[in-house]
Amino acid sequence: MALADRFKLSLSPDDIRARYEQERRKRERAASDRIYRELPPEPREERAAPNRPPRTVRSEVAIVGAGFAGLLQAIHLKKSGIEDVVLIEKGSDVGGTWYWNRYPGIACDIESYSYLPLLDETGYIPKERFSRGEEILAYCRLLAERYGLYDRIVFDAQVSNAVWDDAQHVWTVTTDQGDAVTARFVVVAGGVLHKAKLPVVAGSEKFRGRMFHTTGWDYDYTGGSPEGFLDGLVGKRVGVIGTGATAVQVVPRVAEAAEHLYVFQRTPSAVTPRGNRPTDPAWASALAPGWQRERLDNFLAIASGRRPAVDLVRDGWTRIFLNDGADRAAGPEELAAAAELADMENMEEVRAHIDAVVKDRRTAEALKPWYGKHCKRPCWHDSYLETFNRDNVTLVDTDGRGIDRITEAGIVAGGVEYELDLIVFASGFEILSDYTRRMGFDPVGRAGQRLSEAWRARARTLHGVTIPEFPNMFVVGALQGAALPNFVQMINYITRHIARLVDWAVTGQVASLEPTGEAADGWVGKVADSVRGYQAYNAMCTPAYTNNEGHYDETVALGRTAWMGAPDDYLRMIDRWFAEDMGRDLRTVRIACRS
Ligand SMILES: Cc1cc2nc3c(=O)[nH]c(=O)nc-3n(C[C@H](O)[C@H](O)[C@H](O)COP(=O)(O)OP(=O)(O)OC[C@H]3O[C@@H](n4cnc5c(N)ncnc54)[C@H](O)[C@@H]3O)c2cc1C
Repeated sequence: MALADRFKLSLSPDDIRARYEQERRKRERAASDRIYRELPPEPREERAAPNRPPRTVRSEVAIVGAGFAGLLQAIHLKKSGIEDVVLIEKGSDVGGTWYWNRYPGIACDIESYSYLPLLDETGYIPKERFSRGEEILAYCRLLAERYGLYDRIVFDAQVSNAVWDDAQHVWTVTTDQGDAVTARFVVVAGGVLHKAKLPVVAGSEKFRGRMFHTTGWDYDYTGGSPEGFLDGLVGKRVGVIGTGATAVQVVPRVAEAAEHLYVFQRTPSAVTPRGNRPTDPAWASALAPGWQRERLDNFLAIASGRRPAVDLVRDGWTRIFLNDGADRAAGPEELAAAAELADMENMEEVRAHIDAVVKDRRTAEALKPWYGKHCKRPCWHDSYLETFNRDNVTLVDTDGRGIDRITEAGIVAGGVEYELDLIVFASGFEILSDYTRRMGFDPVGRAGQRLSEAWRARARTLHGVTIPEFPNMFVVGALQGAALPNFVQMINYITRHIARLVDWAVTGQVASLEPTGEAADGWVGKVADSVRGYQAYNAMCTPAYTNNEGHYDETVALGRTAWMGAPDDYLRMIDRWFAEDMGRDLRTVRIACRS
């Protein structure tokens, strides 16, 4: 049997490739599309100056951000015996993503038994298979309480500068509230998807109705709550711009209340059922100690292309990873072709599901994604597609062009004006803009050099964690590190790694550490090779953040993307490096002994 015949495809592989190419070309755009507006201050972001005098603090470690990364960093340091830690957070509470984002329907797309960290230790059992935002935020608070972190957090303060003193071997971190934290080590845990992306749309300043980004959801206007009926939208015409992961969660909730909802689509997401359900108490009570570790190891292996005997998670992600065609390849020489066919098969299933759910044929066709399964973050939802069967919902498919402009009265798309009372930008978060722009400050390393200058030619890290010429600074994020769909799982590994490096320095009387330029160059070369390995795949994708909106540029890619190899290989590599090669790659200064 020919290889292609071993896959369930309704079209020939050539026809599918041609359709992918056709859809990609429709969406080719100028690089100027990556110009974003600053988000206007929204109710929760308009931070009143805290009613306290500026604080001056000395500590061993300063952590920027109190989302999962900041919290886990503090927890891992505490477990290593380093408790002298200060977290600086511009919000008024912990939680990061889950503090700032309260839009209707918000939930995680990774099963909560894996997404919420340290469940083995805290004994907490999530209420549902996919936790809602409120539960995740409450769990962040639980972690901060449980590990005694609240007293260590300076809230309502945005880090505006961080300057390294090469003589004293300390960082001075300052905030927009006049706080100054002096610390030997700084961990930047300011988030990956933190800065709202607000594309420049002609005419947006003219709109007379209400307009906001999902991250600044205005419940005063919409009524309701993340889980409650949005009664303020009764009788209102609402436009949602965007059909990515956030829109998939928001759209069904808005549709319940609005008089009419128009969903403006450039490129559809691949949406299949999520299968959410309450946690089975019998299952939960039978969990043995170490159960979460086992689950995470299992997910890591599957996401790394391994084939463990069981799939403990059995969600949409593991299904995507496991269906790689290897089981239908006759030998190694067929693996690449089989992977492409399996990818096509996967997307055929997504399209078949849309046909089965969406009644109107034109709408169903417009909702079908025509690209590979790794081109955009896949989405899972139990009522998004069904929403398009409602009489009060219209999909405005712009056939890849995006909306034309905003007017006083509403949105123009395809030459038609849609009159609206409310426009919601479900346009996601900046990933492609500069790291220092997203973090909101530009650290000053050795010899007064700013990070943005040091990275002007290209971003340079060792393992995505340390940076030459920026001693004792650590970054937590996806940049040049390893990528896992479960962000928090990877954050947990990385913050543990940073904690052991800090512990090593503290116990070894090391005043400062940083990677040598050669070590960083060597690593960046590996990242570049890994990115090149995905270039052919990315080139056939419709524009998205995964392929720099369709404009391949290696320098840009190095400043944005992760190392693209298997995440379990990455973790083994940093373990080996810590045990054997660290001395070769680090430049260190020992604490001077006083006689
Ligand atoms: C809407 C949404 C849904 C998501 N859903 C999922 C999901 O289902 N599964 C998944 O794996 N991931 C998901 N993510 C990704 C999510 O961001 C990560 O899972 C995780 O929460 C990141 O934690 P973090 O601490 O690194 O970043 P964040 O949660 O973004 O926290 C960073 C913190 O740093 C603070 N900060 C930033 N800059 C400064 C500064 N200059 N000074 C002071 N404080 C600063 C911010 O206020 C913020 O509180 C989602 C992201 C978003 C936006």
